Amino acid sequence: PKPHAGRIALVTGAASGIGKAIATRLAAEGACVVIADLDASKAQAAAAELGTADVAIGVAANVTDAAAVQAAIDEAVLAFGGLDLVVNNAGLSLSKPLLETTEADWDLQHDVMAKGSFLVSKAAARVLIDQGLGGDIVYISSKNSVFAGPNNIAYSATKADQAHQVRLLAVELGEYGIKVNGINPDGVVRGSGIFASGWGANRAKTYGIEEEELGAFYAQRTILKREVLPEHVANAVIVLTGPELSHTTGLHIPVDAGVAAA
Ligand code: NAD
Repeated sequence: PKPHAGRIALVTGAASGIGKAIATRLAAEGACVVIADLDASKAQAAAAELGTADVAIGVAANVTDAAAVQAAIDEAVLAFGGLDLVVNNAGLSLSKPLLETTEADWDLQHDVMAKGSFLVSKAAARVLIDQGLGGDIVYISSKNSVFAGPNNIAYSATKADQAHQVRLLAVELGEYGIKVNGINPDGVVRGSGIFASGWGANRAKTYGIEEEELGAFYAQRTILKREVLPEHVANAVIVLTGPELSHTTGLHIPVDAGVAAA
């Protein structure tokens, strides 16, 4: 059987972009998938693309709201009888320089990514610990958690927060057989809602290019000269949570086609 067959996965922010690609791949590998996102109808539509309600469901869950997060985890357990794998993917980026970054910009990005991941991991860990069967928690962090770039202070800081959550939870949850790992993507332009929703325009302005040129721009600055797509991030989730990496926790895998040292 496929390694993920019968596993029960919840992916946040999975109605679009990288999260949707992760949910799609998990379903293709035989997992039952809960797509959690802000809008119930979008989450349900994304789930319907994966199959019937016995393999994928969509639920509304704003990850900044502890009660909504708990309800989504409860719904996963109710629908599929347990939980094995959680992906903290929900996010947004406002991409502004320091002097233009408002307190509200800072708070929103930290609420969704730093606090949201914390709430999801906490609610999920409770179920995983009670089940006593181990499990996986994956964070979709970013290259920006490690490398400093322009006009991105709030986003990058919250991604660094997520990266440290990975290390801390790997230590704290290891005794329960729960692995916690992260993925650092970069430059996923095509298929990403973040780029469509204004970030792309901001990034293009930062680099002095047209928005349509961003995919090629990111590709040419990588070591491999390749464009990173949502599917490449999904591949990393499958490997990190699969049996071959059963002894790996606290790791971040870059999915960025290679970044040369400055
Ligand atoms: P996207 O906009 O397509 O997906 C983000 C999803 O998160 C959306 O469906 C959105 O509705 C959802 N979301 C936002 N706020 C939420 C909330 N409060 N509660 C629940 N869901 C919420 O963008 P994407 O590029 O697919 O980004 C997915 C993740 O990947 C993000 O965490 C992002 O920071 C990370 N990432 C993206 C890139 C990239 O190049 N696109 C690079 C590094 C990291």
